[in-house]
Amino acid sequence: MVEIKTPEQIAKMREAGLVVAAIHAATAQAAVPGATTRDLDQVARKVLAEHGAKPNFLGYGGFPATICTSVNDVVVHGIPDDETVLKDGDIISVDAGAIVEGWHGDAAYTAFVGSGHSPELVELSRVTEESMWAGIAAMRGGNRLVDVSRAIESYIRRQPKPGGGKYGIIEDYGGHGIGTAMHMDPHLLNYVSRGRGKGPRLVPGFCLAIEPMVSLGTPKTEVMPDEWTVVTLDRTWSSHWEHSIALTEEGPLVLTAVDGGRAKLAELGVTAAPDPLS
Ligand code: MG
Repeated sequence: MVEIKTPEQIAKMREAGLVVAAIHAATAQAAVPGATTRDLDQVARKVLAEHGAKPNFLGYGGFPATICTSVNDVVVHGIPDDETVLKDGDIISVDAGAIVEGWHGDAAYTAFVGSGHSPELVELSRVTEESMWAGIAAMRGGNRLVDVSRAIESYIRRQPKPGGGKYGIIEDYGGHGIGTAMHMDPHLLNYVSRGRGKGPRLVPGFCLAIEPMVSLGTPKTEVMPDEWTVVTLDRTWSSHWEHSIALTEEGPLVLTAVDGGRAKLAELGVTAAPDPLS
């Protein structure tokens, strides 16, 4: 069952989405060499408190922190701690969420710590982010869920990888419905899987978190003994980008982007829905 939202409910989700955007801005500024991942977690907690919003990651299945901080070969679900000190040349994916009046927002970005990153890493993050936007642009009435998966996958497959070889589209994790809970039906694969069907039709009120995860090598992952930290099986580095999006009568609204996705979607020939809060 897919939860379909009213315009009023989408406005509440937009409030939650803007809190997530504020966490992104604050943590990105704090992701500098010498900072610990715990420092970023504390920044996120502060932003949530300032907005009177609640964390959705903290306590989720026993998760012990406010955000996920996934450094280098960690794909997702890295736990902030005092031991992980960010170094010049690292990449970090920060996944953050917020609840406002029972409505959830969820989004992630990859940042470069310090400077001097190889063109391969710069391109990895760019391809991952752009594949997310390709998926967002496919969120239109008449399409089905598989069209979003296809848009993400085909974008990644079209990109030449510096140094040769193929990108790994992480297989075991994907996007999801979002609304009164963080993870809801349907599950969104970041690739087309034969035999899995086309998935539900995208209609106004359909809300989705689109989150491609891409590695420089394998699509396979393993979970570390802490039962959270997901790393690539071959320990190649990976990127993760995510936005929460509502499909409205007037097109997609990127709930967790400050401008609602307007600028980026315009580049892709898609008109973003007007912001219900402005
Ligand atoms: Mg998510």
